[in-house]
Amino acid sequence: MKYKRILLKLSGEALMGNKQSNIDPAVLEQYCAEIATLVEKKVQLAIVIGGGNIFRGGQAEALGIDRVQGDYMGMLATVINAMALQSALEKHGLYTRLMAGIKMEQVCEPFIRRRAIRHLEKGRIVIFGAGIGNPYFTTDSTASLRAIEVQAEVVLKGTRVDGVYTKDPEKFPDAVKYKTLSFQEAYEKNLNIMDMTAFTLCQENNLPIIVFDMNTKGNLLKIARGEEAGTLIS
Ligand code: UDP
Repeated sequence: MKYKRILLKLSGEALMGNKQSNIDPAVLEQYCAEIATLVEKKVQLAIVIGGGNIFRGGQAEALGIDRVQGDYMGMLATVINAMALQSALEKHGLYTRLMAGIKMEQVCEPFIRRRAIRHLEKGRIVIFGAGIGNPYFTTDSTASLRAIEVQAEVVLKGTRVDGVYTKDPEKFPDAVKYKTLSFQEAYEKNLNIMDMTAFTLCQENNLPIIVFDMNTKGNLLKIARGEEAGTLIS
């Protein structure tokens, strides 16, 4: 395995799958099956999952809700997804710990960096819920920050597209995929890989990002092995 400790960022929105409900059990199951293949190979795995399928802070104002309040609602939404993911992973016989940026003692541990690292060393999957616990941030920023804190070697950003393209491949058939990019190139070309805070954190700490398609079976393991898939930004 090329990577021994990985931070995997999953979007909340992707959990919706067919959009009949907030959480599509088929998507959840597929995520778990992929994740299990990494654990089998003794890869240490931390996961950040978004909350966009339930609530985003940006929606608050249109609903007459205060923005900061909305961001906290968004953070709680990520905990709901994290709990669903935890339960699904446990069904696969995997050991997990849920650590949250907001204290919720009945359902998860508070985030304590050293404890998170200890869990990883013991082979437990650590899921980081509730973002970093502060409004005006995103789960992408959470992924970058937590990856740095637990000394992950790479951030894997699972999406429904198999990498970074010159333009939106879902709209433009002539879009071309990048195999690799430097942080500088990605910035200059305005490629929107992550929000600026998340992106800058990775750049300044030399933490590579791989954008890849989480829906293709076997992709996650391929990347952990160091095989070519998705787009590497370093
Ligand atoms: N959020 C926040 N601080 C954090 C992480 C998340 O305020 O550290 C809020 C923010 O409002 C965001 C929402 O939680 O819109 C859901 O997360 P995100 O939009 O990143 O989820 P995704 O789009 O990846 O599903």
